[in-house]
Amino acid sequence: MSKTGIPKYCDSRAEKFFSWCFKGKGRKDANSSGYGYSWNSSHEDLKPTPSFQIAYDKYCPYCLNKMYPIQADLINRRVYSYNSYNEDYEVTGHTCVCKKAMGWLQWQKERED
Ligand SMILES: [Zn+2]
Repeated sequence: MSKTGIPKYCDSRAEKFFSWCFKGKGRKDANSSGYGYSWNSSHEDLKPTPSFQIAYDKYCPYCLNKMYPIQADLINRRVYSYNSYNEDYEVTGHTCVCKKAMGWLQWQKERED
């Protein structure tokens, strides 16, 4: 079963970066009650994965999907305000949620240990 709001290519290790919240009725990425999973750009475990850029957008070299933003300032300040999204806090990096990107992170971590 696919989870509303989480892309099909998302690896199980990356599902925690999405939080269940109210988005609004009638939205494609929400269920009939208006709820769905939403990207949490301030999750404390988020780390940038390899990327390439076309115009202003970052893409994943493994799956070619558009990447998700990371907002580290938001993590540091522990502020989870929806209104500040893309306004007060800069995007500090990008990550992909596909299996290969998650595998890359795992590999990086093992190299450090
Ligand atoms: Zn990817």
